[in-house]
Amino acid sequence: MLKVYNTLSRKKEDFVAIDENVVRMYSCGPTVYSYAHIGNLRTYIFMDLIRKVLKYNGLKLKGVLNITDVGHLIYDSDSGEDKMALAAKKEQKSPMEIAEYYTKVFFDDFEKLNIERPEIIAKATDHIGEMIEYVSKLLEKGIAYETSDGIYFDISKFENYGLLSGINLDDQIAGARVEVNTEKRHPADFALWKKAEPNHIMQWESPWGMGYPGWHIECSVMSQKYLGTFFDIHSGGVDHIPIHHENEIAQNEALTGEKSVNYWLHGEFMLVDGGKMSKSLGNVYTISQLEEKGYSPLDFRFFCLNAHYRKKLNFTFEGMTAAKVSRERLLASIYQHKIADTVKTDEEVLNNYRQQFVDAINDDINIPLALGVLFTMVKEPKSIDIYNLCLEFDKVLGLSLDQAEADKDDTAKYGENVAKLIEQRAQAKKLKNFALADEIRAKINALGFNIADTRDGVKVTKI
Ligand code: AMP
Ligand code: ZN
Repeated sequence: MLKVYNTLSRKKEDFVAIDENVVRMYSCGPTVYSYAHIGNLRTYIFMDLIRKVLKYNGLKLKGVLNITDVGHLIYDSDSGEDKMALAAKKEQKSPMEIAEYYTKVFFDDFEKLNIERPEIIAKATDHIGEMIEYVSKLLEKGIAYETSDGIYFDISKFENYGLLSGINLDDQIAGARVEVNTEKRHPADFALWKKAEPNHIMQWESPWGMGYPGWHIECSVMSQKYLGTFFDIHSGGVDHIPIHHENEIAQNEALTGEKSVNYWLHGEFMLVDGGKMSKSLGNVYTISQLEEKGYSPLDFRFFCLNAHYRKKLNFTFEGMTAAKVSRERLLASIYQHKIADTVKTDEEVLNNYRQQFVDAINDDINIPLALGVLFTMVKEPKSIDIYNLCLEFDKVLGLSLDQAEADKDDTAKYGENVAKLIEQRAQAKKLKNFALADEIRAKINALGFNIADTRDGVKVTKI
């Protein structure tokens, strides 16, 4: 039985889908005003792991990921400029060009990191009409009110405000930024819609004049449109718990009077050199930058997989190098299973590893523990059965284990030609064409090498 930690209850809970045929899941997506950094990507790798664990458990998925291309202000509360508009001004491009470019790069990173795209990708700017409708409904119900600069959610109308983060409203007021907006009824009331100044680049017609939506309303509208008013999982980074997700819950539940999300799953932050990532410290890295430094994107995925998602993960280049070395060793070891066929593994042994793996991933997505099972398993006598089980585990891990290659140091010793012959011989043996296998062995000998099948896999030595 899959268990997940629910931020709302602060407990590990059994996962039971609302509709047993399909799990409905919403994940907060990027604001596409600049490159995703490795911290953002840790959160999307986490989203991907949730999806892959659900699928491994035989569940079908309907996932939604939004693309915020309007409305996310510099501060998560309602102040500062719209991030998209600001980037457009800075890069002297239209907001649309900015959004298109960074969305493309974002999904290129997904591909590099083996993060699968959720079934539905929803752009905020494609849903403005629905957002206006939603805000109108909140106004009609008296849960929202109009001021000279926008439409605000009236927090006093939603008594469960703060349940997710456990903060009480008074604390939030004390910590709030100095309010400039004196028309707000309560300092924690938040904008659903902002009225735009004439020179604001992105604006739409609405019953309240030209304007643009608040950031939180986007996620309520897009999640409910595709997943209904009550769905299974909502994921995001921990920074979203106190404002963004509280506000989403308030918008959703004030309107329906009912619970909107069953399980809230949050990924912890990535730190760099023990501290916050920030442009001014020059430690905001992208996947392309890691590639330039000689790391594979999958080295980064592997690095992330080594920490549980609810633990902070400290990024250092030493840590990345260790991850790279460890991943290469793993691949070399798996390769030995790939080309082995002499030893089979008992069904019981295989089932035991499979069970340990499932227990790990189903215990709140404990991927580091699952990796530990894999590392122990590859030490078994080399067998194609183990190789096949590695590939089964890879449906969750997403490490492209089928691309396992011989250890580069080994290949260097005997060269590419012999490496190719070794693969051909393994293939011939798999097809039980022993005559061909012997022929290939003779060719290897003729090139000056001996080949032997051992418990630890194929060994090649110089004659
Ligand atoms: P944003 O584009 O700023 O809305 O962020 C996109 C996603 O990345 C959100 O789910 C954030 O919670 C997450 N995020 C931002 N910074 C970090 C970080 N340092 N570590 C992990 N996740 C992060
Ligand atoms: Zn969101």
